[in-house]
Amino acid sequence: MHTELKLENIAFMRFPYLRYIVIILLVGLFSFWAFPGQSSIGQPDKIVVKPPSNAPSQNIDFMDEKEIRQLKQHPTGNNMGDNKPEEELPALSESVMASKFIRQGSTDVNQVAITFDDGPYLLTGKYIEILQAYDVQATFFLIGVQVEKYPDDAKMIIDNGYEIGIHSYGHKQLTRMNQGAMEDDFRKSLTAVRNLTERDIRFFRPPFGDFNDNIIQTAKTHKLTTVLWCVDPRDWQKDDPNEIARHVIEKAENGAIILLHEGRQGTLEALPLIIEGLWEKGFEIVSLSELLSTVEKDPSTSL
Ligand SMILES: [Zn+2]
Repeated sequence: MHTELKLENIAFMRFPYLRYIVIILLVGLFSFWAFPGQSSIGQPDKIVVKPPSNAPSQNIDFMDEKEIRQLKQHPTGNNMGDNKPEEELPALSESVMASKFIRQGSTDVNQVAITFDDGPYLLTGKYIEILQAYDVQATFFLIGVQVEKYPDDAKMIIDNGYEIGIHSYGHKQLTRMNQGAMEDDFRKSLTAVRNLTERDIRFFRPPFGDFNDNIIQTAKTHKLTTVLWCVDPRDWQKDDPNEIARHVIEKAENGAIILLHEGRQGTLEALPLIIEGLWEKGFEIVSLSELLSTVEKDPSTSL
């Protein structure tokens, strides 16, 4: 022991700076051990982990609190849990079947329908997570090429019981096509969907809301009712979820058909606000079939 100390002292005497080098090394080692995340050596200032935009998301944290709030605030309460997607959709009224097109359901009933155009798209799963968390129905107007490109997302919509309609095959202006091409577009979009489901397809919405009598008649030959909308927040050109939600909630009235779009982050974030706002105004949010099953009760409806 005595000899070791002596040898150590000799080493420090022969190399006077050795003591300081040892101390610096020890302090350095201690700081790595004690503050591993704060070392700036070899690391960039800030690491930002951004998930790829098309990554399937399990993260719906932003709405968890809202979900809890709505459980407390739902105006009727008893609708929770019994608004599950139904296999058997109610029959459309005869006046709906006979109509040229529909913009709105019955103004006598405090129901509204949310519709999503242009999917399936990359955020489809996230939209569905929100709809399921709130237990509300919605209707998706699908584009044929999107169904072929994202069949899993289309299946997700169908398998979770949401109602679907067609929104053309390639989202081109049907009024600019000749009769043959237009009819072909209907066939192709129906085939894309029917490759995934045997379910009844009842609704057609023309791209850009642009149609003529020929298009409506062609839809009818496929037993499709042409459905437009009466509430349009123009969400495709807005990023602010509050702005989108405010427009929808303000304009919503009995029988409203609300037009929204898939693949929009702003719309996705607006969705919980829209659902809560509609509930606060006393509306029940239903599928299009349900909304349109009561239309004949109101002769003043805009058919
Ligand atoms: Zn569209």
